[in-house]
Order: sequence, then structure tokens, then C-alpha cells
Amino acid sequence: MRVTFPHMGRIDIPGYTFFKRLGWDVIIPPPITKKTIELGSRYAPEFACFPLKINLGNMIEALELGAEVIFMAGGHGPCRFGYYGEVEKTILKDLGYNFEFYVFEPYAGRFKKFFQPICQLFKYEKNLLKIYNAGKIAWEQGKAIDVITKSVYRIWPREEIPGTTKRLYQSAIAKIKKADSVSTIRYIVDDTLKQLGEIKIKKETPLKVALVGEIYAVLEPYMNFNLEDFLSDRGVEVTRTIYITDWAEEQLIPKKIRQKKKIGHHEESKRFACGYLDHFVGGHGIETVGTAVKYAQAGYDGVIQVLPFTCMPEIVAQSILPSISRDYEIPILTIIIDEHSGQAGLITRLEAFIDLLQWKRSKKEVC
Ligand code: SF4
Repeated sequence: MRVTFPHMGRIDIPGYTFFKRLGWDVIIPPPITKKTIELGSRYAPEFACFPLKINLGNMIEALELGAEVIFMAGGHGPCRFGYYGEVEKTILKDLGYNFEFYVFEPYAGRFKKFFQPICQLFKYEKNLLKIYNAGKIAWEQGKAIDVITKSVYRIWPREEIPGTTKRLYQSAIAKIKKADSVSTIRYIVDDTLKQLGEIKIKKETPLKVALVGEIYAVLEPYMNFNLEDFLSDRGVEVTRTIYITDWAEEQLIPKKIRQKKKIGHHEESKRFACGYLDHFVGGHGIETVGTAVKYAQAGYDGVIQVLPFTCMPEIVAQSILPSISRDYEIPILTIIIDEHSGQAGLITRLEAFIDLLQWKRSKKEVC
């Protein structure tokens, strides 16, 4: 059975491990390119969110390579993510592809919907222990990537010798990809963090920017034009506010347990967003508002919001961000991306934003 799933950040690594360990052939869609976007945009409804178009392009490319089963994450609530699976399945069937399609739904108190696709797995693999072990290693890989990524983007803008952190990061990711046990993965994390700590850093404190917004736009470097790398290369510390394993925990662990264990930043974001946005608007709208407040209070120099064109929750958040910017005197840049966006325009805006932050910092120092 040849399985596939769409790209989102480095989900390809744990995803590959999980399915491969169940004994399946895994077809990772080719890296996202212009061709992927063209395919997705050609067959998706024009008004569909940009991530859906990229997902669809990924799926078409994987089906062309022989994929027979597609796994996709699901969602619920006021935004369109809950429809992604159905829409993509219908489009692909209309195009004449033959495949099975499973959507992993978040728990959200819906027992049947949550367990239905998981039970489908047992159709192919009846050994519960095997599924558990595959999931455990995949989870550990996802966690390892997130832990290392957090440290990398703290060190990168401070490094004395350009390129040192990036090289170490790439090497760590390659090792995690090959690792075949939890202990090896944990060793790689410890070793990488140790090496990161030994990198020679500059004395000056870099500009600090919080990256907020829609999850796919934040996590997928092809979509956000490698924003984190671009800013890090220019000496700006980027604090990403969404990580894939944090999101997965929130989707998989029932709310009551999460609240007890204080897992996830949704609850925390809700507290920070209080007074600006007091109800769920779908997607990561409340997280965008809450984390913008959190990092403004923490003295960050700026906030960057990234969102796909027409993203409903982020449009709500976008309309609130000017109040936060005014109240905390923090510059906030909103970047809206779709299939027509170009890197050159984005670079100009980012450079202007960095200039503004530098000017503001220097004014503060003089005063
Ligand atoms: S969060 Fe935004 S981009 Fe993502 S599915 Fe919902 S509306 Fe679309």
C-alpha cells in the first residue's frame, strides 16, 4: 500500500517514519515548487485558501508517483479547514484518480469522528504495539525538530561566523531523519543543543520579532518565502509562536486533560487576548491576538503576522492588531500571501520593517 500526505514544514520526517514503520511504502510528495502551486491553483476553487491549493498540488504530484492512500488532517469550527479533506477528495475523484482518503480529525469531544480514521489503520495493521512504537518514534522526531528549531532561531541572529548555525541545524535534521530509536533522537537533541551553546555569539542584543499567524503560513517555509531564515541572516531574532507538536497536542489531547496539565498555548493565548478578542474565531485567530499581546508585553521590538489571502480567522485578528500596536507602541507588520505573491515585494517590506525597528530601538536608547 503506497501512502502519502501533504507537506507542512518538516512534517514529512515524522510522517514518513510513522507509515514506514507500519510497513507501508511512503510517497512523500516532491518538494513544493511553482508546478505544485500551478496544479493546486488550476483545480481548486479560486476562492479557496492558499494552503488548500498547495495541499492539492502535493496530492496530485504524489498520486502521479503512484500513491494509493492519502492521509490528511481535519478541523472543525468556523474556518474552512474542516472542509479541506472533502473538497480535496472530491476534486481528485473528479480528476479521475483512484485512491483511499482518510482525514484525521481533532478530538474536540467528537469520539466517533476522532477514532474512525484511526480504526481504518487497523484494516491494514492489526498490531497495536507496532502502531504505538511507530507513533512514539515519529512523535519524538517531531518534538526533537521543534526543540532544536527553537534554539536555532535564537542563536542564528547572534552568531559571529555567518552560516555556522544553519550548517549545524541542517546536520541535526539529517541525523533526526535517519534516527531509528527514541534514545538516539534524544542524544541528537542533547548533542545539538550543546553544540549550539558553544557557537561564538556577538555581544549586541538583536532585534526581536514574534512570528504569529495562520499555522500553515507560519510553518511552511515555501509559503512564507523562508521568512525566518531571511530575518535571522539579517540579525533579527525570530520567535515562532506555533510548532507542529504543540498543535498536534492540542488536537489530540482532550481539553480537560490539557487544562489540568497546562498543555498548549491556546489557553494561554486566550488569557492574553482577553479584552481584545474574547471568543473563538477559528484557526489560530485567538493565538495571533494573544501572542501579539504576550510578546508586546515581553518587550519585543515587533510582531509579524503571516496569513493566506482570505483567511477568515486571521482577518479578524488583523483588524485587532492595530489596537495592540497602539496600546503597546509596537510595530506590527501583516503579510498576506497567495499564489500571486512574489519574494521581491516581500523582501522590500521586510527590509523597511527592520529599518523601522532599528530606528525605534535607537530612539529608545537615546531617550
Ligand atoms: S485558518 Fe485560514 S487559511 Fe487555514 S483553513 Fe482556515 S480560513 Fe483557510
